[in-house]
Amino acid sequence: MPCKNCKLNPVITLTNSNISLCKSCFFKYFERKVLKTVFKYNLIEKKDKIALASSGGKDSMSLLYILNKLGRKRDFNIIAVAIDEGIKGYRDLRDLKRYCKENNIPLKIHSFKDEFGIDLDHAAKKITSLNPCSICGVLRRRLLNKAAINLKANKLATGHNMDDESQSIMMNYVMGNLERSARLGPITGIVKDKRFVPRIKPFYFLAEKETATYAYLKKFPVKFNECPYSNESFRGEIRDMINTIEKNHPGTKHAITNSFLHLLPSLKEMYKNSKIKTCSKCLEPSNGDVCNTCLLLGKISKK
Ligand code: SF4
Ligand SMILES: [Zn+2]
Ligand SMILES: [Zn+2]
Repeated sequence: MPCKNCKLNPVITLTNSNISLCKSCFFKYFERKVLKTVFKYNLIEKKDKIALASSGGKDSMSLLYILNKLGRKRDFNIIAVAIDEGIKGYRDLRDLKRYCKENNIPLKIHSFKDEFGIDLDHAAKKITSLNPCSICGVLRRRLLNKAAINLKANKLATGHNMDDESQSIMMNYVMGNLERSARLGPITGIVKDKRFVPRIKPFYFLAEKETATYAYLKKFPVKFNECPYSNESFRGEIRDMINTIEKNHPGTKHAITNSFLHLLPSLKEMYKNSKIKTCSKCLEPSNGDVCNTCLLLGKISKK
């Protein structure tokens, strides 16, 4: 099927609509969709200082490119923040460093090893009762928030796409954790707390296939290899399940995310009085008396 707009050879068929687009029409479609999300949900304002979580992967590299371009026009600043979890043979930030240098984007790199005294590979060997992604998620969330606060950033942008969000929604349903779902959406958080930097997701309405195609066609220096732990995770199980349903029923990911957005205001209302406590050990914000990071580090030090 030729490009719907100009009849040139297509590079992609969109997931939700069966519409084919050529390279130039796809770039326009992609960038317009990001802008629409940014404006509809008021994700970015003039003079914002945005820390951009950058792994060097397809999503964050595409986001870095688009927000860097947009920031010059719309008068906001971005700083790339990378986390080196310490995953042998996987995390490699050399191309990201080069890209940021060539494009004059400031980059801060933090590592689990420097911050918590242990890298993910060793932590995963010590705590075999938890899957590595759970450990990684807790430590990465903490470190990204801390990095954004240290930079005095007022937003933290992530390259989360529609596939990621539909997985998070389904994971929370399956685990019966509605309070966690109330923190999802294009801009995160239930209650405002200056100890948490709100997260924005400009790729919220773009499918992974679209972000991957964009990064590939733009020739970003991106590696498409997968983390060695990704298949061990609960998220991996949910991802495979949603992908199977999507294959048989195209539009499933859009349906999950869009129906969730209808529920989100009610969920936020339901949990608006949730109290954010202070961890008695590290004094960082926490849901319980001791935060997840301290609980995790406690388990590691006992081994
Ligand atoms: S797949 Fe899991 S372990 Fe690997 S980077 Fe992602 S969250 Fe971390
Ligand atoms: Zn076209
Ligand atoms: Zn703590």
